[in-house]
Amino acid sequence: MIPIMGPLIDSEEIDRVMDCLNSGWISSQGSYIPAFEKAFSAFCGTGFGIATSNGTTALHLALVTLGIGPGDEVIVPTLSFAATANVVIHAGARPVFVDVEESTWNLDPRQIEPALSERTRAVIPVHLYGHPAPMDPIRELAEKYRLWVVEDAAEAHGAECGGRRVGGLGHLGCFSFYGNKIITTGEGGMIVTDNPEWAEKARILRDHGMSKERKYWHPLVGFNYRMTNIQAAVGMGQMTKIHDILDRKRRLAERYRRGFEGLKGIRVPPEASWARNVFWLYSILLSSGNGSERDDLIRFLHEAGVETRPLFFPIHTMPPYQGPGPFPVAERISASGISLPSGADLTFEQIDRVVSLVKEFVGR
Ligand SMILES: *Cc1c(COP(=O)(O)O)cnc(C)c1O
Repeated sequence: MIPIMGPLIDSEEIDRVMDCLNSGWISSQGSYIPAFEKAFSAFCGTGFGIATSNGTTALHLALVTLGIGPGDEVIVPTLSFAATANVVIHAGARPVFVDVEESTWNLDPRQIEPALSERTRAVIPVHLYGHPAPMDPIRELAEKYRLWVVEDAAEAHGAECGGRRVGGLGHLGCFSFYGNKIITTGEGGMIVTDNPEWAEKARILRDHGMSKERKYWHPLVGFNYRMTNIQAAVGMGQMTKIHDILDRKRRLAERYRRGFEGLKGIRVPPEASWARNVFWLYSILLSSGNGSERDDLIRFLHEAGVETRPLFFPIHTMPPYQGPGPFPVAERISASGISLPSGADLTFEQIDRVVSLVKEFVGR
């Protein structure tokens, strides 16, 4: 089986984890956590990093840090992983779904104004499958209407928008280090920001809302969203190879692109002129736009030993979220899209095999 995605783990992670275990600092104190926060936030070009237990808790913590709660509305692209909307609901606010743009598969800035109400407080652009959202127009509108911008960068470590890395392009940026993300800590997440007050508040909220100066005094109702030192030790190992992982993913995307060049019936993933895509999952669209053809391709590849997955379902189409819609661009991209094997350790031979199988399917 050619897997869709897997972590790259070697002695860089193993040695640090052994060192961490030997040190006895296995919970959420210990030197790997501040080291990882510093290294990863510097990678993003931001001043502060707040490590969390996963990407979802990073997003939730970001919303609560900004004071978003009951009565508030938050604009969310309907084409994303459900966690982007769930955290808005967990904060007590309401997600307002909008459609995505054809050219990046991400939140369409033209949909922001029609979605506004007097309750709108924030927008969560998602850098889906590693392609950055169009942050310049999003930020402009956010300034105009005084909205907070929380980036969901869970799939896009190292992606660039106009030469600047994602995470530092809004007010708070959130990452995931789940096992299949660009880098991993097993489970894990991080908020990055340039604002010292939000960084401080997020740290307090992360640790039960407990005062840093006065132990067991709780000025805020907080959470336990802490990352462990063991996870951060894995993260520091991953930081030694993040540039190598990103290079490998660019090379595999280029191999796929060349393989598919000139092939009618499929569209390769976008890369806008202002963007640097990190190709988290290399995803193609079948131009028929037909969900059943897409499902046939998934089955065909599975039988040939190739693991794939369909793109995310538009969130507004699933029972707990309920409309309104329709959002035709998201619905069409979702129904016609399939993510191909994208692990950083994929060989060119494996890629060529996937390409020739897709060609065989499309040509029959
Ligand atoms: C993975 C992911 C998350 C959630 O991250 P976890 O670490 O799994 O909680 C949120 N948003 C998007 C777009 C994701 O892909």
